[in-house]
Amino acid sequence: MKLLEERIRQEGLILSDTVLKVDSFLNHQVDTQLALEIGREFGRIFAGETITKVLTIEASGIQFAMAAGIALNVPFIYAKKKKAVTLAEQVYSAPVHSFTRQETYQVSISQKYLGPNDKVLIVDDFLATGAALVGLVDIVKEAGAELVGVGCVIEKSFQEGRGLLEQRGVRVHSLARIASMSPGEVHFVEEEST
Ligand code: 5GP
Repeated sequence: MKLLEERIRQEGLILSDTVLKVDSFLNHQVDTQLALEIGREFGRIFAGETITKVLTIEASGIQFAMAAGIALNVPFIYAKKKKAVTLAEQVYSAPVHSFTRQETYQVSISQKYLGPNDKVLIVDDFLATGAALVGLVDIVKEAGAELVGVGCVIEKSFQEGRGLLEQRGVRVHSLARIASMSPGEVHFVEEEST
């Protein structure tokens, strides 16, 4: 998605060879029109599928899952990272290891909102090591739902996430794929034809 690549070039802060900060427009302050356009793009990519739910993980996937849900006219669910007292009902859950925080946490969603009749699109902001998305893929499997695919806003293609998902037979579409980066420089993989 050219518009997204341009914004990454203009405003992305490359903190190291592996960490990209996009706080000014994607995951701290959010450009709402861009978020909606991202949702429409996911809607176009997955238009041929009868998706019933969009699934993401709190917090930074939420605005894109909502935008995709609006485009596809379906609800979205966000998995919670901490078990809230209000989540008293039965849950599906999976462990996720965070490499940035060096801790493993349990993500969960209520069994009320996902089941064998659902066709699910998973959406997230970044695909890096793939740990978060593999956790969500496992939850979809546990629920007996059908996984249509995964849509990521930014993929760091030099990390192992895409490979891990593809090994599991998951269809992955990322709107900006970074082949390599270093402070002041970013190189994209040629955009996927959609
Ligand atoms: P994973 O390593 O599980 O694929 O990524 C987990 C989460 O870490 C992503 O959803 C994203 O929120 C965060 N993350 C990973 N790499 C980056 C990065 O380069 N920049 C930012 N801002 N977040 C990242």
